[in-house]
Amino acid sequence: MIRFNRPYMTGQELDLIREAHQNGHLSGDGPFTRRCHTWLREHTGAASALLTHSCTAALEMAALLLRLEPGDEVIMPSFTFVSTASAFALRGAVPVFVDVRADTFNIDENLIEAAITSRTKAICVVHYAGVSCEMDAILEIAGRHGLRVIEDAAQAIMSTYKGRALGTIGDLGAFSFHETKNVISGEGGALLCRDETFVEEAEVIREKGTNRSRFFRGQVDKYTWVDVGSSYLPGEITAAFLAAQLEAASDITARRLSIWHTYHAWAEGHEKAGLIRRPVVPDYCEHNAHMYYILLPSLDARTRFIAALRQRDVQAVFHYIPLHSSPAGEKTGRSHGSMKITDDVSDRLVRMPLWLGLEENMQMILQAADEALVEALA
Ligand SMILES: *Cc1c(COP(=O)(O)O)cnc(C)c1O
Repeated sequence: MIRFNRPYMTGQELDLIREAHQNGHLSGDGPFTRRCHTWLREHTGAASALLTHSCTAALEMAALLLRLEPGDEVIMPSFTFVSTASAFALRGAVPVFVDVRADTFNIDENLIEAAITSRTKAICVVHYAGVSCEMDAILEIAGRHGLRVIEDAAQAIMSTYKGRALGTIGDLGAFSFHETKNVISGEGGALLCRDETFVEEAEVIREKGTNRSRFFRGQVDKYTWVDVGSSYLPGEITAAFLAAQLEAASDITARRLSIWHTYHAWAEGHEKAGLIRRPVVPDYCEHNAHMYYILLPSLDARTRFIAALRQRDVQAVFHYIPLHSSPAGEKTGRSHGSMKITDDVSDRLVRMPLWLGLEENMQMILQAADEALVEALA
């Protein structure tokens, strides 16, 4: 069976973990965490990058940094992973869902303004498949209404919008290093602060509400409880693993892009024949080949396509169950306007396997996909 995902190891992870073991510093914010922070700052241009245990944790930190109160509203897409909404709902904030664009399946920037109320505090965008949202338009709306912009850049490490790293364009950005993402540490994430505004508060919130980071820099002589917070930092073993991955990120991205382009070339003929639709990448966006998906004509055709692939030993998957119609989404959030595209895409999208090491199986996969398409569309 060709699995949908297989975590890629660079080969350097165990060496760096052994070094962390020898260092004898196992809790967070040791030399490997600093090495990851430096890499992230240098490769994104963010004022600050802080490792967390997950992208979910980084989004929860963003919600705390915005000082959200029950009833405050955050505008976001419904076509996304749970954490985009749950991190804000955890603070009592109301996720306000708007529909996505028909081309990139990113939040439709033209629908944001009408969803703003006196309770709106922020817009949380999601760069789906590592392809950028329309950030100029979104920042302009946010600026006009005094709203913060959070980027759920879980899928978007190494992607850019007009040359700027995704995750550093809004006020705060969140990366994921979950094993299903491009650069991994099992579970893991990072919070990026674009400028100095939130840096000190973010350090405090991540360290249980204490000023421990300032204390270690010698900026205060006592280390004490100064704010609300939690424990959001990973240990050094995780950071050592991540350091090995980050240092290979350019290579990982290039190799993923090569697989992505193989799929894209295969799908072109089927798209021209009107059978499927391929991903759309606007020309101002450099993407990271986080995923390759196709759109089938209907839910039935998709179900048959996935089953026919499975019979040929290829595992393909679909997502997302839209948040606006999920049990928790209905309870905590609300939709603004029609969710037509979200509902439609969630019925028809299929994700193909994409991981490093897959290259040698590409011919077999594409052959299976050709046959599965014929069966699905018969
Ligand atoms: C993967 C993902 C997350 C969650 O990341 P974790 O690191 O597992 O918490 C959040 N948002 C999006 C869009 C994702 O794809």
